Amino acid sequence: MGKIKLKGLSCTELAELLLSWGEARYRADQIYTWAFRHLVRSYAEMTNLPAGLRARLEEETVLEAAAIVRREFSPATGTVKLLFSLLDGQAVEGVLMRYRSWFSACISSQAGCRMGCRFCASTLGGLARNLEAAEMVEQVVALEREARRAGGRVRSVVLMGTGEPLDNYDNVLRFIHLIAQPQGLGIGYRRIALSTCGLVPGIRRLAREGLPLTLSVSLHAPNDELRGRLMPINRRYPLSELLPACREYSEETGRRVTFEYALIAGVNDSLKQARELAKLLQGLTAHVNLIPLNPAVEGKLKRPEPGRVAAFAAVLRARGIPTTVRRELGTDISAACGQLRHQVLREEGTLW
Ligand code: SAH
Repeated sequence: MGKIKLKGLSCTELAELLLSWGEARYRADQIYTWAFRHLVRSYAEMTNLPAGLRARLEEETVLEAAAIVRREFSPATGTVKLLFSLLDGQAVEGVLMRYRSWFSACISSQAGCRMGCRFCASTLGGLARNLEAAEMVEQVVALEREARRAGGRVRSVVLMGTGEPLDNYDNVLRFIHLIAQPQGLGIGYRRIALSTCGLVPGIRRLAREGLPLTLSVSLHAPNDELRGRLMPINRRYPLSELLPACREYSEETGRRVTFEYALIAGVNDSLKQARELAKLLQGLTAHVNLIPLNPAVEGKLKRPEPGRVAAFAAVLRARGIPTTVRRELGTDISAACGQLRHQVLREEGTLW
């Protein structure tokens, strides 16, 4: 058994641990303040704790669940990408994106992925393992340090890095509750977005949690035939099951579902497909986010010309579907879709 990861404990759980050590409950608040407000990186810096307690924390727990092994910064957009090494040597990526005066942290929920989407680099080596809640919290903490260094704060967190969050449901939910704690990072549920390739039972379960999370569903095709070719998960959960689950989610939570649609030249970007998509989403409280494909996977898949993206968007809007085109913030530093992890895997044969 490894040591307890401090960032995987809620403030209440930490207090219980400390009580079991014969310490006072308020020490948990002090430790939380150091870890999540001051973002210190060692127990030695927690100067209002008695030396004995610091020593015991050192002995039985770890403060940091991951170490940064690579940092890339894009001066053009302010995007920072961090590659983390976890305690067992697995690697994951987290990205900080800047939107005017605030920041969004994009984090990974699994090391690798087993969903097999054809266009996605995260899935190329399969799934190594699920991330623990502490390992997801650590990514947000490190990105919050980056945001502060740039004079801001992380205001929203998106689970859009490597991995399928609903394939790691319990740890992801635990993570969400941990970062929402007011004594911790205090990221409100509405500012947390979870993106899924469409695991229907997970969407239904999430709908029943009663949390106002933002749900994004990666759609990428307007019919089962094409979606099944691009995303193997569609053969298990076709659109006739996925869309009712999305409807249920917005009815239960009152939140509008976002549909992600990566435009791939000559594959899913025709105006006919735009009309088909509009028809499919008719009557749903939905919003479409178009993403010009990141050519992440070697091969034939390419992004369309900008004019084609605009025309696709115009068809949707004309049919009353709110549509945005994603601003790209990380292409220049391969800060998208598992690319850095994949690149390192390729260059070094293995990840540490
Ligand atoms: N597994 C989750 C979250 C991770 S991916 C999901 O599937 O939603 C985050 C988003 O990036 C998804 O919408 C995914 O389909 C998209 N994506 C993956 N590879 C991409 C690429 N090469 N270009 C553009 N978007 C991509």
